[in-house]
Amino acid sequence: MISGDSIVALSSGRLPAGVAVVRISGPQSRFVVEMIAGSMVKNRVAAYRKFKAPDGSVLDSGLVVFFAGPSSFTGEDIAEFHVHGGRAVVAKMLETIAGFDGVRHAEPGEFTRRAFLNGKVDLVETEALADLVNAETEAQRRFAVQNAEGAQSQLYLGWRRQLIHARAMIEAEIDFADEDDVPGSVAETVWSDVRAMVDEIERHVQGFRAAEIIRDGFEVVILGAPNAGKSSLFNALARREAAIVTEEPGTTRDLLEVVLDLEGMRVRVTDTAGLRETPGRIEAIGIERARSKAGTADLLLVLEDMVDPVPIGAIPADVPSLRIGTKADLLQDKSPATRYDAVISTRDGAGLAELLAEIGHRAAAQIGQAGDILPSRLRHVELLNETKRFLLAAGTEDERGQELRAEELRLAADRLGRIVGAVDVEEMLDVIFSQFCIGK
Ligand code: GDP
Repeated sequence: MISGDSIVALSSGRLPAGVAVVRISGPQSRFVVEMIAGSMVKNRVAAYRKFKAPDGSVLDSGLVVFFAGPSSFTGEDIAEFHVHGGRAVVAKMLETIAGFDGVRHAEPGEFTRRAFLNGKVDLVETEALADLVNAETEAQRRFAVQNAEGAQSQLYLGWRRQLIHARAMIEAEIDFADEDDVPGSVAETVWSDVRAMVDEIERHVQGFRAAEIIRDGFEVVILGAPNAGKSSLFNALARREAAIVTEEPGTTRDLLEVVLDLEGMRVRVTDTAGLRETPGRIEAIGIERARSKAGTADLLLVLEDMVDPVPIGAIPADVPSLRIGTKADLLQDKSPATRYDAVISTRDGAGLAELLAEIGHRAAAQIGQAGDILPSRLRHVELLNETKRFLLAAGTEDERGQELRAEELRLAADRLGRIVGAVDVEEMLDVIFSQFCIGK
């Protein structure tokens, strides 16, 4: 599909910058290069040119690169102008280029949308490109690169091919059922393969939590009685160089959050109101929030002042926790320290590096091995669960007969096709492409 109009946008990052890349895609790209750079340049070879407006005035000078379609990111002709990254330079370039007939400013995600419509990337790869652009940590980058290169798509397309084949086998058996020389056991093998695929999909879907942790972060919640040393630990963590964001907006007085990059993983640490067994009424609200946050965490740090331990009541039993003894510097007799998983002092920094290493270790264990293929969006999980339901139904022996069961195989394959965008996805496109900013 080649669009009638051409689109232009700034494709590089925030201005001012050393260099900015202004990109145009569509049938007018060639004409725009001739007009702005004076004449056409060789395909895929950077050329240094003076860039001029149609009235002959100089806009800037820099590199121009032309990618002839269909061997380009969007599948259309693309030209990139690498100019000096000043706001006025970029504004004038954009205004001049968008001033040519048939050229307009791009919508958010429109370059990628064209790439999808021209079959250059599938939907899962498109989502992975959005993740790659937004990746802040090494684990996020690794995960996004792997999926942008098609690992996840290949898994789903492989399953889909298997199902299409399985259905063909079943239908062949139905068609030739009356003939004596067709072996009757093909269907049995097919259905047992289908049941095996259900288990494979189930295991794959379970990896979604790991993908969520890579994308959104490993949730650590600090709990403890008032004065246990929670804020002191939180502040010590927030002061670390690796903190990506401190005190994110939207946090409340009694739930503060800091996001850390721990050995390439995103880790969100939340400080909570002090837990008391018999709180006042207002205080009880903060404690309720702390407890509900704790219930959904990946790891609890349960702090206790080793010099003056105060009981805090029940903590969620199904969330992994580390019992941490605080204020180690005040402890004369060190024997209570043996009751804890870790002992720290925020006063002299003792035990903090070890604690961070342990948190990093726990987070790493949760995200699995680098290279694991995981479903990266809830959308994938929902369609995979539908696939599984159809396969379970197809694999169940009953009075429905092979025809109906073969139809369920078709529906299952269709759901897998929807994940990558091979079938009927028009209505999802707007949602997916709105994740991009302009110029992508
Ligand atoms: P929270 O109520 O649990 O947040 O506790 P805070 O972090 O506010 O600490 C309570 C008190 O204990 C403050 O006076 C801190 O200065 C002190 N404190 C916290 N951590 C340490 C520590 O490691 N050593 C010492 N000596 N005092 C600490």
